[in-house]
Amino acid sequence: MELTVLGGCGAWPTSTQGCSGYLVTCEGFRLLIDPGYATLPALLGHAGAEQIDAVLVSHGHPDHCADLNPLLRARALGGAGPARLPLYALPGALDAVLALDRHGMLADAWTLHEFTAGARFEIGPFTVDTVLLPHFVPNAGIRLTSPRGTVLAYTGDTGPSPQVPLLAQGADIFLCEATYPETVPREDAEHLLSARLAGRYAQQAGAAGLLLTHLWPGTPPEEALRAARATFRGPLAVAAPGQVLEVGAEVT
Ligand SMILES: [Zn+2]
Repeated sequence: MELTVLGGCGAWPTSTQGCSGYLVTCEGFRLLIDPGYATLPALLGHAGAEQIDAVLVSHGHPDHCADLNPLLRARALGGAGPARLPLYALPGALDAVLALDRHGMLADAWTLHEFTAGARFEIGPFTVDTVLLPHFVPNAGIRLTSPRGTVLAYTGDTGPSPQVPLLAQGADIFLCEATYPETVPREDAEHLLSARLAGRYAQQAGAAGLLLTHLWPGTPPEEALRAARATFRGPLAVAAPGQVLEVGAEVT
C-alpha cells in the first residue's frame, strides 16, 4: 500500500498546495481519498482521471470533496468514458458537489455507495473500517487495511475524542488532522485538533508513524512538528504535496 499526498492544506488552497487529497494505491488499485479543493491538478500528475478506481470521502466540507466535480467532468466529457466511478461517503455528504452541474449531465459518471459511520466494507483490495468522529458535520474516521495487513488510519476532520486513538491503534501511518499547532480556538475546540493532541493520540495508539495534515493556511510546518514532537516519540512529518510513502516503511 502506497500513500501519495496530493494536498494537505486546511480550509482553502494556497499558491503551493491544494486542500486534503490522498491517493492510496495497492495491487494496482487506485483509491482517491478526499478530493478537496485544487487536488485534481496534483492528482493528474500521478494518474489519469480515468485511472481512478474509487473515491472515499470523510465528510462533505468542500475542502475535502470539491474537486470531485472536475474529476467527474474529466471522466464524463474527456472522450472514451470509463466505467462509473464508485463513490463512498456518508449519507448526504456529496449531495452538494454532485448537484453542481445541470441535472443528469454527470449522472452516468458515478455510482454512489453511502455508508453509515461504524460500517466495515471492502473497496478493491482494501478493508475499510469507519467510525463517527466529532466535527461540524458528520465525519467518518477511516482505517484502511491492505491484504498484507498494513494499516493507514485517517481522521478526516475531528474534535477531541477517545475514538481517535482507537482508530489509529497500531497503524503503520496515522494521517491526522492538526489544524492548529498548540491549541484550537475555543469556538472550534470541539470540532478540530491541535498537532499537540494529534501527537498524544498517536502515542496512545502506538502508531508507527504520524503524518500531520490540514494545517491552517500559512501555518509554518515547523510549528506543527514542534508541538507534536512534545507528545509523540515516533517518526513524524507534515503532509506535503508530492510526498509518497510506503505504508509500513518509516514516515519521513
Ligand atoms: Zn471539515
